[in-house]
Amino acid sequence: MATYKLAVIIENQSKDGDFLLHTQTPPPKFDDKEYDSYLDPDLWDLPSAELTPLDQTRVPIRAGGDIDLRLFDVDSALEKVLEQVGCGSGEKWKWDFRKYVEEASFGPGPPVNTAFVVVKMAPDGRSFPDFCMWMCFESCMKWLLDAEPGSGRIGPLVVVGYLNDLKQAPKWKMPPTLRFQEYPPGVVVAPMGSRTLKPFTTTNLVVFAPGHDAVGDLGAVECIATGEALILDPGCCSKYHKELEQVIASLPRKLIVFVTHHHHDHVDGLSVVQKFNPDAILLAHENTMRRIGKGDWSRSYTPVSGGEVISIGGRKLNVISALGHTDGHMGLYDLKTHSLIVGDHCVGQGSAVLDSKSGGNMSDYFETTYRFLDIAPSVLIPMHGRLNLWPKNMLCGYLKNRRHREASILKAIEGGAQTLFDITSRAYADVDKKLWIPASSNVKLHVEHLAQQNKLPPEFSMQKYLQSCGVWFYLQWLWAYLGPKKVAGVTMAGIAASSVLYKSL
Ligand SMILES: [Zn+2]
Ligand SMILES: [Zn+2]
Repeated sequence: MATYKLAVIIENQSKDGDFLLHTQTPPPKFDDKEYDSYLDPDLWDLPSAELTPLDQTRVPIRAGGDIDLRLFDVDSALEKVLEQVGCGSGEKWKWDFRKYVEEASFGPGPPVNTAFVVVKMAPDGRSFPDFCMWMCFESCMKWLLDAEPGSGRIGPLVVVGYLNDLKQAPKWKMPPTLRFQEYPPGVVVAPMGSRTLKPFTTTNLVVFAPGHDAVGDLGAVECIATGEALILDPGCCSKYHKELEQVIASLPRKLIVFVTHHHHDHVDGLSVVQKFNPDAILLAHENTMRRIGKGDWSRSYTPVSGGEVISIGGRKLNVISALGHTDGHMGLYDLKTHSLIVGDHCVGQGSAVLDSKSGGNMSDYFETTYRFLDIAPSVLIPMHGRLNLWPKNMLCGYLKNRRHREASILKAIEGGAQTLFDITSRAYADVDKKLWIPASSNVKLHVEHLAQQNKLPPEFSMQKYLQSCGVWFYLQWLWAYLGPKKVAGVTMAGIAASSVLYKSL
């Protein structure tokens, strides 16, 4: 079941083309000097409010994806929206329906679908709160495409509901069956079904085909690869390969493919790209490429390790070293829109799991997180889940969470835990036992990190701990998860299955 939102385009009757934006409420602070010193700049977007159906039992969406607003409490939602901009107080406003946008299935929660309506307002004599501002198409696009990092930002509602319709349509088209979001302009994110880990079911395919937005402003910069379009992480499973094929067929032939890392939920569609565009240039770290099978990609590739520049239709993107999740993990930064594609370093919800079997490393992870903070992106694009509009807040949240886990792991060790299972079960006592297997990958890397920093107590035996990390961990986990009676009936096949889950992280 989807949830609904009403977004209001308040048009200025006295100045053609102007509409009202207001600043969005940032997420709560951390109450910690270090993290609170990183502040995301203001985010300006259309005012919006939750839209509730009048009768929960009736489906408010007509066949063909149209919304029937008569089935919603539009009056209350509109009143809430207008109160936000200081115009509530019982005034009656006439509204016109503009469009209905169903959100792509980013997950893990239900999609938030948005109805956009237009209200015309004469601002003369009215006073608007400080956090409201009249903007026009041109100034919004300038903020989106020419802003300095750290300056005010324009949010996705105004882009998806308004600006994208006014700008020139790109020459290529996404297949009609594939839902996607274009934000910022020129950056298309399409969640596609993949063999990924719960709670997610999709991997975001990111497509850059800037078309008319592109300007040849590269000057003398040396580029490692030049193309007219770029796709990142074609990781959909075979069920969605037809749609991926349609995307590839629609994009310009001069295509660059970038994979953030080797996990199969990021490369499962590579063979489709190779088959339908054999001229495509693949960019990946050499540690990533070592783990990608010939069945996925048999042609040559261009190695990257961070610091390289890619040109897509004249638009410049920087390859960013993003080690930590694996030892070949790379990010990509679009200098025009300040969008940072973070691969699996962050996920839309919850925290990321590092792959201890593929060179995952906690100090690299911290280093990458600080590198991302220094870049000060306007938006983070993870490969699982929604885009994040408060990058500094999210990255500091990750730092805080990792430090908190590391502290509880050290506490468990100081309290006598010697084996991987004992440490995991104590440090993750607040987490469902089901998740202790993926969590144990992070625990291993935290223990390594503690050892590097010489923080482990002298009585902790590294040898004993390392011996506890293999099958012994899975047996203890099965015992705790299923209970002693059931464990007796579980064969090694069960252990092997859980190892597969573990390896897929
Ligand atoms: Zn991954
Ligand atoms: Zn992934």
